[in-house]
Amino acid sequence: MAGLLAAALVGVTQHAGAWGTPHTEITRHGLRALPASDRAEARLGGLRQMEDLAWGGDYQGGAFAQYFVDDYLLFPEFPRHSSHLMPDVAQTWRPFFRRTLQALRGESPQNAARWLGTFLHFVEDSGSPPHALPLGGAVHTRMENYVLGLHVRLDGYHPREFPHDEAAAEGAVVSRIGALVAFSRERAERLRPLAERDDRLACEPLILECAQDTIRAVADVTHCLLVLAAEGPRPGAAVLRGEVRASADPAFPQTPVRVLLARTGISTVADPGPRLPGDREYRAAFVLGDLPPDDYTVWFVRAGCRTVRKRVRLAAGERRTLSVRLPTDPHPGNRVRNADLQLRWLRPDRPDHWTFAGGMWLTDAFPIVRGGRYVAGAQDAAGARRIRVRVGEDPRFPGAAPAANLDGEALALNGRYARLEVEGETPPLAAWVAPAVGLKGEAQ
Ligand SMILES: [Zn+2]
Repeated sequence: MAGLLAAALVGVTQHAGAWGTPHTEITRHGLRALPASDRAEARLGGLRQMEDLAWGGDYQGGAFAQYFVDDYLLFPEFPRHSSHLMPDVAQTWRPFFRRTLQALRGESPQNAARWLGTFLHFVEDSGSPPHALPLGGAVHTRMENYVLGLHVRLDGYHPREFPHDEAAAEGAVVSRIGALVAFSRERAERLRPLAERDDRLACEPLILECAQDTIRAVADVTHCLLVLAAEGPRPGAAVLRGEVRASADPAFPQTPVRVLLARTGISTVADPGPRLPGDREYRAAFVLGDLPPDDYTVWFVRAGCRTVRKRVRLAAGERRTLSVRLPTDPHPGNRVRNADLQLRWLRPDRPDHWTFAGGMWLTDAFPIVRGGRYVAGAQDAAGARRIRVRVGEDPRFPGAAPAANLDGEALALNGRYARLEVEGETPPLAAWVAPAVGLKGEAQ
């Protein structure tokens, strides 16, 4: 994944603006400063992966084999993408601090690590000189990239202690990140004229100071989270576990299952079980371990599968295990997420993974097999809807539209990502972009 990330970085720093090389080093040295009592390596399922996960914030709409990046960027408390510059980035601090705490208490290490990666991305961007100032353009790029990753380190730092009361700790974390912004802004003001005249040597010491305080902030906020979540689920919480099975699409065998509790901010992504090449069965397991006792509607959502809903009543301290099999979508291999538009978890007024813009319903971008032949369509009670498919290399910038294929004719899609566009004011009832062979019922 590191190679993939590195290849994509050039485009990312131009568009989103972020620390260049230092996200990796800042994360590495910030987490190395954690005391052994935090057990960070075990609780996050490995510290090395955090260096990649801390980039996640810049991969909006992206997809990896086992998860979609947006599933760790968007949730009901923060249902939109935002700028990573001050003052906008400050809006992320509280919701992502709380969301990461929730994951550390009640979800698998892999889920906790991905949420922490997102939170650390925002903290690190807050400490980047041109983000703190803020400032865009070519000067922005110089002001955060004119430093060698090799120099970005900090030895012998001990993270500060935060209040053990959750609300007080959250306030103290916000103050800590605010102090980081002030530290970096003061240096950014001195840095700006040096960057404007492109004096790299003069820039570097100031950028390095900012990077070092960002390392300290990463250590501080992570230590705070790990101490608060040290006991895992809170007393009286219920625990819901389960196994999910589905048929495995040979092109995207590890397409993730999201498990979401309706009308709450609680969700997780199931961790896939071991699989061999050619396995036709997908298995994954999930845990939600810090649930207030309540009646829940649990949603299981996976591209290529029909959505499943279960009702569960959980008493205080109860432990429940579910076993769920997801039926295959009517269009096997369907790449559209929330293809029946039933899930409305992120916002009550809109189906998840869909956007309405310009008189059309647009899906989120989804990964496809480059050059693969797909059929696409959408329907409502009145019949087929007019559609287009856009294909591109970057999920944030889908390319030109190929011809629509309302009559079920297969299209070869040449790109890494595609998006379906459905004309009309009302959302369709079903939509699909699926491998052409699947529709003919041939073996996949
Ligand atoms: Zn960023």
